[in-house]
Amino acid sequence: ATPTALAVSSGRGSQLGILVSGPEALESTRSIDTVVLDKTGTLTTGVMSLAGTDLSPADFAILARLESRSEHPIARAIVDASPGIVNTGSAGSVSTEADSTESVDGPAGAASARSVETSADAPVTDFENIPGGGLRAMIDGSDVLAGRPDLLRERGISVDYPADSVPRGATLVALAVDGEFRGLSFVSDEAKPSAAEAIAELHSLGLDTVLLTGDNEQAAHVVAEALGITEVRADVRPEGKVSVVTELQEQGRAVAMVGDGVNDAAALAGADLGIAMGSGTDAAMAASDITMVKSDPRQIPQAIRLSRRTLGLIK
Ligand code: ADP
Ligand code: MG
Repeated sequence: ATPTALAVSSGRGSQLGILVSGPEALESTRSIDTVVLDKTGTLTTGVMSLAGTDLSPADFAILARLESRSEHPIARAIVDASPGIVNTGSAGSVSTEADSTESVDGPAGAASARSVETSADAPVTDFENIPGGGLRAMIDGSDVLAGRPDLLRERGISVDYPADSVPRGATLVALAVDGEFRGLSFVSDEAKPSAAEAIAELHSLGLDTVLLTGDNEQAAHVVAEALGITEVRADVRPEGKVSVVTELQEQGRAVAMVGDGVNDAAALAGADLGIAMGSGTDAAMAASDITMVKSDPRQIPQAIRLSRRTLGLIK
């Protein structure tokens, strides 16, 4: 072993804002041929805004009151578009998509929700976070469910809408009240400015790229096309992300996974090389070999180049 080379490399790495968990992390980089990238928060800004809604103002207010209990970027977008509704998902912390899997249920959450929502009518009770799907709660004595259209369909609610009503690349939030579909809202975010450059660099290093997301096919393809990613796995439930990594490995591919959310943790741990965004969740970082302190996707090829160089030194 040549600990000096590693020390030099991790020193250079930390200058670049690339933190390596240990020598084994670099070792696996040698064989990596495929990089799997989470979409929201990793390649896109993760800051969503409302792109439209066909809900009545009253129904949109109900949706916003439900979303006020969530930290998901979708929730932020909807709450921000609703004057008078305050996000109570978690005390003032920075929103990340991964928060969708964190329970904000329980007596403390309920109490704080009540205290802030006095202006917005009745309390939200029996709040339930459905990871990778949406939210459910009782509001004003009604059973309110919001999330992916398939989440509603899985619960026997028929969701119909003309395909051309969806803004290009948007994420859909379907609302049902007492088991009845009320309409859709649309949210979207944008690719990070340096994401296309990062993908081009990965390709020039001879690596294949795969976009992996819980978002819908269309939204995934819009981002993939803009960034030059040819392989897309969309509509993947949180527990399905690790299966995609395993499936690629079974094809004989050596896989690096890049993600930021609690949803990504299992896939990060299962990959040959796990790379977490430092702006993401602790769970993602704990599951990873490498953490990129900046949230700049160009750090991904940088980290791979750095570790290849270090291995060249060791050999
Ligand atoms: P990603 O894999 O892109 O990080 P998530 O697993 O967090 O996405 O969520 C997958 C999908 O579940 C979202 O695209 C959205 O349709 C739905 N969803 C998750 N959380 C919410 C929420 N708070 N409100 C509405 N829909 C949600
Ligand atoms: Mg993400």
